Amino acid sequence: MASVTPATQNSPGSYRFIDIAVNLTDPMFRGSYHGRKKHEDDFEAMLERSRAAGVKSMMITGGSLEESREALELARKYDLYATVGCHPTRSGQFDEFPDGPAAYLLELEKLILENMTGRGRVAAIGECGLDYDRTHFAPADVQRKHFRTQLGLAKKLHLPLFLHSRAAHADFVQILREEGFGQDGGRSVGAKGGVVHSFTGTPEEAAELMDMGFHIGLNGCSLKTADNLATAKTIRLDKLMFETDAPWCSMTSTHASKQHLSSLPANLSALYLPPATKPESFVNGRPVKGRNEPSAIGGVAWTVSKLHPEATFERVTEAAWRNAMEVFGLEELTHGA
Ligand SMILES: [Zn+2]
Repeated sequence: MASVTPATQNSPGSYRFIDIAVNLTDPMFRGSYHGRKKHEDDFEAMLERSRAAGVKSMMITGGSLEESREALELARKYDLYATVGCHPTRSGQFDEFPDGPAAYLLELEKLILENMTGRGRVAAIGECGLDYDRTHFAPADVQRKHFRTQLGLAKKLHLPLFLHSRAAHADFVQILREEGFGQDGGRSVGAKGGVVHSFTGTPEEAAELMDMGFHIGLNGCSLKTADNLATAKTIRLDKLMFETDAPWCSMTSTHASKQHLSSLPANLSALYLPPATKPESFVNGRPVKGRNEPSAIGGVAWTVSKLHPEATFERVTEAAWRNAMEVFGLEELTHGA
């Protein structure tokens, strides 16, 4: 299929998005911040703003066995998708599991197998990978061990990966290569590629991952500094995906992305980045300052499109849409709900 379905001219909200990384299990979306209730539950209003902004679907991140269960529950309820896996900073959970690490992995596998098809299904294995900025949560050797076993699941179950790599590039690609993911996203060993999400590495690191057949997920954290923008510019359109990582990774006025966001047309800005209020002065129907949400994906896409002057905003958003659809097998989204 070579033709691109135009997202109906240029009327606001006509650009479409799949937010491939959103932490909808976070209590902030229920009004609770670090254990303190600050306002009423506005989950539905947040979803409504996302829909108005053209976010047609999302992948809810599962960062542990328990959180993956919650992510799937939300995905089923709202007709979205979920990932199932264990984040590197929580990989100590494997060893702490009552019946040991093999049993934890088996529980992840069972959860995936029970949710492979239909509405609210598992779209990827993850979040898994390495995070050497936060080894105080789980030591590097523990992270490496359980990253490897989750790669095994991706091969066994033929699912794409939802990957996290922070300050660990050399070890991250070494393990991927040793496990057979050195080329074409591991398709020769039964896997199906995937995305390295929230990318903040160098252009060289991005190039290596793209050459290995992986896609790169960009969010507000990937567009924070001038160096980040220089890397984001090098992500090829056929390897690009957009995300928010909400409620984290908001774009702020001090970020390098600001210079590009200032050219976002007012009608789109009203949809993607509507005026927010502080949690203390919460108004239902308005976003909350400091709490990112999926509607902001349009701001991420706009910034990245400005780094690709050869392409229109529509071409960039459609490329990211198509990449997410193809890698995670979400073809039903194009046929309408
Ligand atoms: Zn992550």
